[in-house]
Amino acid sequence: MDYNSTRNDSVKVSASEAIIKGLAPDGGLFVPVDFPRVDRFDLLKLSQMSYNERAYFILSRYLTDFTETELKKCIDSAYSKEKFETDSIAPLYKLSNNMYILELWHGPTCAFKDMALQILPHFTVTASAKLGLDNETVILVATSGDTGKAALEGFRDVDNTKIIVFYPQSGVSHIQQLQMVTQEGSNVFVCAVNGNFDDAQNGVKAIFTDKAFAALLKQNKKAFSSANSINWGRLAPQIVYYFSAYADLIKNEEIQTGDEINIVVPTGNFGNILAAYYAKRMGLPVSKLICASNENNVLTDFINTGVYDKNREFKMTISPSMDILISSNLERFLYDISGGDTEKINKLMSELKSNGKYDVGEDMRKKISDIFCAGFCNDDETLECIKNTQENYSYTLDTHTAVAVKVYTDYIKETGDNKKTVIASTASPYKFGKSVVGAVSGSDAVKGKNEFEIIEMLHDISGLKVPPSLAALKDKKVRFERVCKPDGMQIAVKDFLNI
Ligand SMILES: *Cc1c(COP(=O)(O)O)cnc(C)c1O
Repeated sequence: MDYNSTRNDSVKVSASEAIIKGLAPDGGLFVPVDFPRVDRFDLLKLSQMSYNERAYFILSRYLTDFTETELKKCIDSAYSKEKFETDSIAPLYKLSNNMYILELWHGPTCAFKDMALQILPHFTVTASAKLGLDNETVILVATSGDTGKAALEGFRDVDNTKIIVFYPQSGVSHIQQLQMVTQEGSNVFVCAVNGNFDDAQNGVKAIFTDKAFAALLKQNKKAFSSANSINWGRLAPQIVYYFSAYADLIKNEEIQTGDEINIVVPTGNFGNILAAYYAKRMGLPVSKLICASNENNVLTDFINTGVYDKNREFKMTISPSMDILISSNLERFLYDISGGDTEKINKLMSELKSNGKYDVGEDMRKKISDIFCAGFCNDDETLECIKNTQENYSYTLDTHTAVAVKVYTDYIKETGDNKKTVIASTASPYKFGKSVVGAVSGSDAVKGKNEFEIIEMLHDISGLKVPPSLAALKDKKVRFERVCKPDGMQIAVKDFLNI
């Protein structure tokens, strides 16, 4: 399988090159030149397989320059008993007759980003060796919370790599911050940025595109790489779990092979839902993809009107991993839905850059609404959804998944659609404990309580085992206290790399 840029389809690269480069030289994203097909017989076969076998079945069709041994080694190192707390890796929980929760947070950092970031470092090391590179890879990440920790955990102590994470000082939860500043590993560095997520992300982008800085790195036998969700090595593993969910529905006799399902995804950067769309393109029987947003509802407006407009107030919500106004992965979807029209993609992306806005036009809008529905909700509605779900089903949602459940509930009210529906659950409720306990027991109950008291309260409410990695935070030493201004990020990187 070859890959080309969304902005230029004449240059083709291998999967290894796409993974190492991250972004195409023209600023576009790498996309597969076509989609491998999965038919009914394949789906039936998948239903008899373990998660790791399912992963091999899907990924081997994309990472075609990896040998069977290499790919299986990547998969088994990532999705192992040591890293994940369940054998099924991504279990499907039946909430009601039609609603199935795909729990993607049983990895080491309790958020769905582990599904991709546990395997990406193995891809990077394998691809780098394949291409004969002898540079040290320096992973640079800007995070709104979950990516940073998941990337640190994935890359810690991986040979010939270093990882640097910047997070907005007041834009992540207390637990998220603790998870990062106590990170262990000899090759890791964490720094707070005095600003919001976009400031941190712009700072990282500026470092990435600085030619003089790149030359300095090269002199020191190092090269930057990205672990952000634009990397093909992150997107591909996310396709797997949608097939896995469908395979579990067959296995549990909830559906017949070939039945159409809906998929709901709480969305920020459009990565997770794009993976669901790619699964559909490969032949997964999906009726509607439902895109759920919080009050940063730029995607809701886009799907409903065809106009993408980021010129709006950035809101801090209780689902911070979805507080995003530029959804980078949308470019891959636009490329596909336009029939690979690179000229159009260049035009739209340059409009986005200069005006913060573009309009895809009526033809594309129609195509989009055939496939996608979209909705959003505010923080109060999210909290109410957590409370209702606890009361009605004795199941505890985190704030991000609750956005998806609320948007889905609205969707059913509006359409009466009774197809079986898989809802992607992106974080453990323990990660956002204060909001979750507040939702169920009232905000007075959490007043003055520290994070660890809240974890105990949540244990009583949910009956869920406290993730050992979160319980252990209490006694961990803080290793990283540096705070910098957005324009001080370059210096922080140089200091850490000693260059
Ligand atoms: C990253 C994240 C999201 C958003 O995922 P995208 O791929 O950026 O759309 C949703 N929920 C949680 C908990 C996350 O960490």
